[in-house]
Amino acid sequence: MEQLENRYLFLEDERVKSFKNWPYNDNNKCNIRKMAEAGFYSIATGVHDADAVKCFLCGKQLDGWEPEDDPWAEHKSHSPYCAFVQLNKREDDLLLPEFLSFVLQYMKNEIRNREEIAIKQINQEAKKVWRRIQKSRK
Ligand SMILES: [Zn+2]
Repeated sequence: MEQLENRYLFLEDERVKSFKNWPYNDNNKCNIRKMAEAGFYSIATGVHDADAVKCFLCGKQLDGWEPEDDPWAEHKSHSPYCAFVQLNKREDDLLLPEFLSFVLQYMKNEIRNREEIAIKQINQEAKKVWRRIQKSRK
């Protein structure tokens, strides 16, 4: 089941913390800091998908990273319409309204994700209840 804890992945430092088994080090262009700067956080669940990442804003998922890949350039080429990519600013350079618009969009996406999870759970529950009703009718 997907987790429902609050994570503030619109913050670069929070994205940095998400990388646990990242296969590249600081000598590589796609190191953890650069990945987080480019808006990515880790969605790895184990060794087999250690380099799977997702953008906190547009939700674009990427993997198959090479040591010399530039995270910003990859984000730009795979998701040119991402608002974070289009603004093309480091977190420290964001103006408050820009930052707030990212937070708002992130929260909207989170609510939508939670809604989808909740609907799935409700459907499963409803099916269980339905089966119980069917049994008691026999
Ligand atoms: Zn993006």
